[in-house]
Amino acid sequence: MTYTLENPDGQRYSATSLDEVANAVRSGTINSKAWAWHEGLTEWIPVMSLFPNHSGKPSFENSVKNAVGNASGLLAKAGLVMAGFAAKNYRKATLKNRFSKALAAMIADGQLDHQEVAALEQMVLEAGADWEEVIKECQPLAEQFIRHLLADVCEDDHIDDFEEAKILKYIKFFRMGDEIKSEVKYTIRRVRLLHDLGNNKLPPIMPINPAWLQSGEAVYLCQDARLYRDDTLVSEGKLWITNIRVEYVSNKAGFSISLGRIREMNGFRTQLIITSVKGEIELEIVDGKVPAALVLCLLRLNNRTVSAATDDTTKVRKRISKEVRNAVWIRDGGICVECGANDYLEFDHVIPVSKGGSNTVENVQLLCRRCNGKKSDKI
Ligand SMILES: [Zn+2]
Repeated sequence: MTYTLENPDGQRYSATSLDEVANAVRSGTINSKAWAWHEGLTEWIPVMSLFPNHSGKPSFENSVKNAVGNASGLLAKAGLVMAGFAAKNYRKATLKNRFSKALAAMIADGQLDHQEVAALEQMVLEAGADWEEVIKECQPLAEQFIRHLLADVCEDDHIDDFEEAKILKYIKFFRMGDEIKSEVKYTIRRVRLLHDLGNNKLPPIMPINPAWLQSGEAVYLCQDARLYRDDTLVSEGKLWITNIRVEYVSNKAGFSISLGRIREMNGFRTQLIITSVKGEIELEIVDGKVPAALVLCLLRLNNRTVSAATDDTTKVRKRISKEVRNAVWIRDGGICVECGANDYLEFDHVIPVSKGGSNTVENVQLLCRRCNGKKSDKI
């Protein structure tokens, strides 16, 4: 049998018998940390595992004799079965390497089909490895894939049950952690809420009854907010939205505007601008789009019309094609082009559609929601 041996420096040798291998190791030509391969092996194994009973360093003459004494047909088996700890780890390492390379290639298009999933499972099965363990090593790749999928399905400001089930399936498949789970959950909930509000569907009434509530009045939103005047922080309090009014309560300053007196509602990422008959009020809030959409929905249901910022999220805009989204995702490397974050990613128009921007690769970029919000503020 021919043995191929590779020293840690990459230098290769061949030997025609196990005796020859043993001599080469003893003389130092072959390092005791070298890798070996012979016909019948599916992977390279540490050279020392060719001598199953050796203990430590190269003084292993007895073992060599024992090993040589075995029928050569059994050697392959012995090599594999008694490869020992090092070989097992090496096989694991090479499997993870192959697995992550295959996974990276498969998810480059932001999709993973049934055949690809089956191929991944087969790869792990054939190597006799533990799926949980292999998948743990590939978490960053899998996370990137989930975020790509999420940004993709949210692009039309709508997530249907099928799309949600698909994302949840992959979260389970890749044994994703809590952080990305809550990112997905939050994003889906937000997209659904905005979509419902755009379609005149109100969220459930909140089970809170502050003392100032009138009879028949119900709370739809209660959130921390900060009041600003001339770009200066005035107070920190809570914003309430009911079916009758928009109320801001804090221990310093507050306001209450009945819905009928609102002329304009503009919400961006961390900003909410309420224009009433009396003037303009600026609040800082975690997600300005939601209260703005809620008030507009309430007003529509009351048969009132007010003006609102016509940003990119209006339903009329044409969607960015899958090809463009893919090209943008790959060009921007799956991260926010502003800050490099890899979470809460959204496809953003460099020049907004409302200002004549197109759905081309040149005019679309990846931004995280934080940076996307900052950008909206400026426009
Ligand atoms: Zn960012």
